Amino acid sequence: MFKINDNYLKLPGSYLFSTIAKKVSEFQAANPDKSVIRLGIGDVTQPLAPVIIDALHGAVDEMGKAETFHGYAPDLGYEFLRTAIAKNDYADRGCEITADEIFVSDGAKCDSGNIQEIFSVDNKIAVCDPVYPVYVDTNVMAGRTGTYDPKTEMWSDVIYMPCTADNNFAPELPKETPDLIYLCFPNNPTGATITKAQLQEWVDYANRVGAVIIYDAAYEAYISEPDVPHTIFECEGARTCAIELKSFSKNAGFTGTRLGYTVIPRDLKCGTVTLHSLWARRHGTKYNGAPYIQQRAGEAVYSPEGKVQLAKQVAYYMNNAKVIKEGLQEAGYTVSGGVNAPYIWLKTPEKMTSWEFFDYLLANANVVGTPGSGFGPSGEGYFRLTAFGTYENTVAALERIRKM
Ligand SMILES: *Cc1c(COP(=O)(O)O)cnc(C)c1O
Repeated sequence: MFKINDNYLKLPGSYLFSTIAKKVSEFQAANPDKSVIRLGIGDVTQPLAPVIIDALHGAVDEMGKAETFHGYAPDLGYEFLRTAIAKNDYADRGCEITADEIFVSDGAKCDSGNIQEIFSVDNKIAVCDPVYPVYVDTNVMAGRTGTYDPKTEMWSDVIYMPCTADNNFAPELPKETPDLIYLCFPNNPTGATITKAQLQEWVDYANRVGAVIIYDAAYEAYISEPDVPHTIFECEGARTCAIELKSFSKNAGFTGTRLGYTVIPRDLKCGTVTLHSLWARRHGTKYNGAPYIQQRAGEAVYSPEGKVQLAKQVAYYMNNAKVIKEGLQEAGYTVSGGVNAPYIWLKTPEKMTSWEFFDYLLANANVVGTPGSGFGPSGEGYFRLTAFGTYENTVAALERIRKM
């Protein structure tokens, strides 16, 4: 008789987005005349840039001719893309990462979920609270997190690092020593960042205690301030303690197209074993490569026209972020984020819970956001709005919020 992986049964239901959808459809059914504006989703809305569409068309045509047809891609990605990444994302920033330390994939969600596989089940993870849920849930599935306490909404074997207004939404070095540390900056959901000096402290700490930092840099393209690191490999010593995850979803609108990559420096070792060799083995065994068409589209992201067109797209969303942030501030809200990230994190007024504010905002402004408590217990009393809507909807939403 087969048995299931009953770690899956330990996962508490993910009610966040299904509850939001249910509440919105109930509201819409009761108020058919009201137009609801959604600023809750973490998905982009602008179409792919012309340079990306051209690259996709070109690659599709190549697939239709015997001479230029491409079958299985190399496990670790095409050389043309890995070289473009190594040059533009690392060498041009003075970081020492070679093309063969880059593993191309179909996105950062998969990589952030799969990476835990190359570590022992005994390893202890540390996560920010609030957090992108993938990091914790995939470790639950692997049996690495102990037991769940529904009262505290915490796992017994996970180290939580609260990120609240008290520490400017930047985690502090944990008291208990972790083996794996998940960091994401600029952050989803808080929109916060840390400075290069602060990240250097984490790198020094990880090297000192023998931990690995899994650094999610999905929102790197949104950085506008000079002191914020674009990659963890700007920090000295990161080559012996850090893995970096990147995505083409938020900088280039590839959420539906799918492309990402993971960097594992060859200096990152457990004894004499490189993590690079384990991840290469995993890729080779379980993955058959991101599609040629997508990798050509990814290459276009780094072309001169690509850089111009995508900077415009990011600027479009960041203008929305400014509209949201300033609009909320004028209306008397306490807000953070929105400067180096497309997320605005606001303190709910009058001690409302995150869900109370969700209902209040939906009923009075017909605007949908995301309750902070859905990202972890320290998110209670906060609320996330995203800059990924259209400009027109963003302006209209803020007009309604101001009138509330
Ligand atoms: C959107 C997002 C990603 C990107 O995931 P893809 O699978 O590449 O689309 C990764 N990490 C975080 C925190 C995100 O919000």
